[in-house]
Amino acid sequence: MILGKKTAKKMKKETVVVFSAHSDDFVIGAGGTIANYTKEGKKVIVIVMSYGEKSHIWLKKSIVQKMRSAETMEACKLLKCKALFFDLREGNFPEDYAATKREQQFLDLIHSLKPVKIFTHSSEDPHPDHRATHAITLDLYEKLSYRPEVYIYSVWNPFSFKTIYPALYSNISTTLRLKLQALRTFRSQKIHLAYPLLLLLLRAVRDGFKMRGARFAEKFFRIK
Ligand SMILES: [Zn+2]
Repeated sequence: MILGKKTAKKMKKETVVVFSAHSDDFVIGAGGTIANYTKEGKKVIVIVMSYGEKSHIWLKKSIVQKMRSAETMEACKLLKCKALFFDLREGNFPEDYAATKREQQFLDLIHSLKPVKIFTHSSEDPHPDHRATHAITLDLYEKLSYRPEVYIYSVWNPFSFKTIYPALYSNISTTLRLKLQALRTFRSQKIHLAYPLLLLLLRAVRDGFKMRGARFAEKFFRIK
């Protein structure tokens, strides 16, 4: 069916929200899929929980924040998504989340965006900020007035974890290049990125094997 311009405009763009503990996690875990979605005309909003200013303790907080958001904007430009920053301190997510009005802010944001899908970190990720982000997302989900689909992605957990949840494979053969390009914008994160970069390439190939017709894939689990 071919839609007229007016009809197409009237149809609301489908929205996807991605929770990301630090500014580069969403690219590592779901960059190719995000690029697929935006190519299909979907709107993707990334909620970055922390600027991650601890990586450069010798620099002023405001300088690191500026650097981080500039890098993230560059990555978002490539993937055609949008990132919103929240300044929970690294290693202090649960405390900062409880002490601020973030919960209401996030609920208002999700209710206004009405995403059909929400992506977040895996609960099996060894990084405490990643696990905290997972817990916060699930807590928010329980408080929503509607039921979006919730998927988890991997950053630091190497291979397929034991899970009872159905897997979703996303063919990123045409967007892997964009994903790697987006990752390269995080110039200040070189050390943090070396290990996940290797992992993500291994995972992309392995998951591609499992998905018929795909050279590279990203794998998610649907938990809600
Ligand atoms: Zn992270």
